[in-house]
Amino acid sequence: MHTEADVVVIGAGIVGAATALAFTRAGSRVVVLDRTTPNTAGSGTTAGNLHIQTIHARRPGQGPAVDVERLLPLQKATSGLWDSLAASVPDLGLVRCGGFMVAETEDQVRRLHTKHQWERAAGIPTEVLTGVEARRALPLLGPTIEGATWCAWDGFAEPDMAGPALLRRAVAEGAGLHSGTPVTSLHRANGMWEVGTPGGSWHTPVVIDAAGPWMADIAALAGVGLQLTPMSLQMHSLAAAPKTLEVLVQHVGEGMSIKQDRRDRLVLGGGWPAGPFHTVDPAPVLEHSTTGNIAQVARLLPDLSGGQLLEVWTGPVVTTPDEMPVIGEVEGAPGFFVAGGTYSFTFAPLWAELLTALALGGETGPDVSAFSPARLLRLSTQ
Ligand SMILES: Cc1cc2nc3c(=O)[nH]c(=O)nc-3n(C[C@H](O)[C@H](O)[C@H](O)COP(=O)(O)OP(=O)(O)OC[C@H]3O[C@@H](n4cnc5c(N)ncnc54)[C@H](O)[C@@H]3O)c2cc1C
Repeated sequence: MHTEADVVVIGAGIVGAATALAFTRAGSRVVVLDRTTPNTAGSGTTAGNLHIQTIHARRPGQGPAVDVERLLPLQKATSGLWDSLAASVPDLGLVRCGGFMVAETEDQVRRLHTKHQWERAAGIPTEVLTGVEARRALPLLGPTIEGATWCAWDGFAEPDMAGPALLRRAVAEGAGLHSGTPVTSLHRANGMWEVGTPGGSWHTPVVIDAAGPWMADIAALAGVGLQLTPMSLQMHSLAAAPKTLEVLVQHVGEGMSIKQDRRDRLVLGGGWPAGPFHTVDPAPVLEHSTTGNIAQVARLLPDLSGGQLLEVWTGPVVTTPDEMPVIGEVEGAPGFFVAGGTYSFTFAPLWAELLTALALGGETGPDVSAFSPARLLRLSTQ
């Protein structure tokens, strides 16, 4: 079987789903291929926070810090795109509840003020509060909190809803979806890519590598070596009474996030490590990540820490050596685009818009040349 398409998207996580919808809306004939069931890798296991105010720079155990200031124009752009999608995509599971970023030391409070200046310059509304003001606004906050910033644009999207809703919409608007279809080869001839799978191949001028943790494996099929490392993170949930916590809470100096989802679970994350990345099975759970994440809750929101531990799960992500995202066309492989890395749940709508503009021509929005895959290229693997 040989089929023609304008765009082949490899991977049906949230990046692939949002990208398929954007290209379909731009009039392209889109095919999405996923080796397994859509939304079962990073996008289904994620915390799903929409990080609009400046994020903390390091998850537990992380080496290089995220250059958080440089991400702000992207955070502002993606914030608006999430709202636009919510207006046209049913059941997106978007919750714009607002969020606090808390600080416990003088140095961390200084960081709140610095990031507030950056946010003001980037056009993201935040407010700095003292510890007393923060506790008045959210009495659940504990006595160690010395200050906080509030951002009404923060929030989350329910991970089991957002990606599937985007994919359903893309299919409803004309995209073709092939689950259980692993891409096994990529060849370029006469200005077209041949995307091979066990069941047949697709010919297309544009390939989008949205394979998340497997992005480097897909690039390798195209003869491109990319410095990307998959790893696994760990999440936890605690029981709580309905409507106990109606905002997102994060920490400015540590990887830590907590909010309450539609099933009333308190969902805890922050980039705590799980065991080694497995390509097929979930990574093993690490006991010290569980105790560490729960200890953060006991310190920051003491009244919530007594809730029963309901679930512990792990999920895969892809990391870059500089901990920054990656997006763009790969040099030497015309028509082959990658998008992923740091906070790609938050950035999925933006990656989708940018990829469409880069591939089809058009207004590209924020400058993402610094996040080009060129910095990750290593010697060809073929
Ligand atoms: C525990 C955890 C917490 C996180 N918290 C946040 C957060 O709060 N906010 C945030 O913004 N980000 C967060 N992230 C990161 C974010 O969730 C991911 O960056 C994002 O979901 C990645 O989406 P994706 O579509 O690129 O990849 P994925 O969702 O991982 O999807 C990749 C897809 O590619 C498919 N695939 C792989 N190989 C092939 C092949 N050969 N052929 C066809 N298909 C293939 C897979 O089957 C998979 O469906 C977190 C991640 C984790 C794991």
